[in-house]
Amino acid sequence: MGNKRAILLLSGGIDSTTLLAKLSSENYDVIAVSFHYGQKHGIELNYAKKNAEKYDVKKHHIIELDKMLFKSSALVNREIDIATYENNELPKGQVNAYVPFRNLLFISTALSLAETMKIDEVYLAFNSDDSCNFWDCKTDFIEKVNTIVKSNSSIQIKTPFINLSKTEVVKIARQLNVDLNNTITCYQPNEATECGVCLSCVTKQKALENA
Ligand SMILES: [Zn+2]
Repeated sequence: MGNKRAILLLSGGIDSTTLLAKLSSENYDVIAVSFHYGQKHGIELNYAKKNAEKYDVKKHHIIELDKMLFKSSALVNREIDIATYENNELPKGQVNAYVPFRNLLFISTALSLAETMKIDEVYLAFNSDDSCNFWDCKTDFIEKVNTIVKSNSSIQIKTPFINLSKTEVVKIARQLNVDLNNTITCYQPNEATECGVCLSCVTKQKALENA
């Protein structure tokens, strides 16, 4: 019998890189999927590529989406500044880095590929900190999508980190010897230098301090 197979949504960040390391340690054959959608942090794809190679994924698909889809988001539109949190106090509720229905689009694409390739497991690295500011990372959203998926196919969406904080994900990353310097998390990096004040940077710094 061959290895178990999984599709993984891979960005260049800590969470999905850690999940890649975890699946690799569990001997999964991983098909990684990343997206280029005009994101300001497009450099994340370089990190996704490096980690896909490092962890020997079977195939890494980088799918191009028209950035016109996401023009209302500060993550994509160069005319909208990403909100920053110099005082380290994190916001509650939706932020302007929200990308309209991005995760449903990403998940649907991964599901299409899974059904095409006859792969039954689709992995997402959402954690519980993500769900504070993005409705499309919440457990409730994933469970509802999963209900539709399971009632029409043999595929399951798996989110092993969804009840873990970013701090707990960083602990797992360290246990698995993930090279965190080989990830990028910032919403608006200057080349490879993280800004230090966006939601993603502040969340990461807190997690690194507490892990
Ligand atoms: Zn940043």
